[in-house]
Amino acid sequence: MSWEDNVRRVVPYVAGEQPKDQNVIKLNTNENPYSPSPKVASVIKGFDCDGLRRYPDPDVSALVSALARHHGLDREQVFVGVGSDDVLSMAFLTFFTSGKRILFPDVTYSFYDVWANLYRISFEDQPLDENLCIRKEDYFKENGGIVIANPNAPTGVSSGRAVCEEIVRANPDSVVIIDEAYVDFGGESCVPLIENYDNLLVVQTFSKSRSMAGMRIGYAMGSKKLIKYLNDVKFSFNSYTMSAIAIAAGVASVEDEPYFAQTTAKIIATRERTKKELAKLGFVFPDSKTNFIFAAHRTVPAQEIFEALRAERIYVRHWNKPRIDNYLRISIGTDEEMDRVLAFLKAYLRDK
Ligand SMILES: *Cc1c(COP(=O)(O)O)cnc(C)c1O
Repeated sequence: MSWEDNVRRVVPYVAGEQPKDQNVIKLNTNENPYSPSPKVASVIKGFDCDGLRRYPDPDVSALVSALARHHGLDREQVFVGVGSDDVLSMAFLTFFTSGKRILFPDVTYSFYDVWANLYRISFEDQPLDENLCIRKEDYFKENGGIVIANPNAPTGVSSGRAVCEEIVRANPDSVVIIDEAYVDFGGESCVPLIENYDNLLVVQTFSKSRSMAGMRIGYAMGSKKLIKYLNDVKFSFNSYTMSAIAIAAGVASVEDEPYFAQTTAKIIATRERTKKELAKLGFVFPDSKTNFIFAAHRTVPAQEIFEALRAERIYVRHWNKPRIDNYLRISIGTDEEMDRVLAFLKAYLRDK
């Protein structure tokens, strides 16, 4: 017998590589290629550091109010945390306690099974169909909760709001989490459903469309009841999850709607252009409504292309996992970055 027999053992989530070398084209973690709003920069530059003597506002009122206003909700319908990973893990801890299996797609954000294992929640993954779409019928059976990334990652595929609504409506006895990390790039948000379904929790993040992955801000929206239960767990865990600087920077971002609209539109335009070019080079991919494309080449294995790109210091994401090992997930960078990637691929594939 040793203390090691009683350790909570987990297999941690593996994030995309963050190379130290600055001289790379980094398209492997779906970060935004554009800076956050200039309003965020000015708030951080002008931040009154004397204020750091105090604990931050435990209710995060300024940010909660800004987000509630932005989404047309009441403040009691918004919960904020340290990135949506923090919010999602808190939601798993709060809502998935029935002992029944929770459901999520077999190909999806690979943190879901990590949290399920961490919290000892049993789960049953549901296979995507041959077009990498979810089959709503898979979610019409008994379960202890449901989590769906919409648009899904790493596939980029978006399900319509009507499909999500059917799943939420069919499961009045479980909490259904819709993870909308990429919704601002052309997906259909489930936020309008919140007023009709008290079991629906919609989670969003500042990391992708708001260019603030480094600031760690995420949030959930749902019925007042759901949000109250989340806050009860949060205040039993750590009252001050968000720093004062993050709160101020988050408010500044939400208040700059034109910049947000402009940068997301730019990324969507670059994505659509990149799709056409990748198709010409022999890639196939499901239609993406995100800031990445999940592409397989018709003849050249993904692993080979991945290694060739890496040798050029172009980082994309590849998983050695069944079903998806022939795909590359390529984040959308600036037009210049995508041009360099496409030019390299064109030359590389010509010699194949
Ligand atoms: C990036 C991502 C998140 C987590 O983002 P945070 O940086 O923790 O806010 C959550 N879900 C999906 C599907 C993501 O791709």
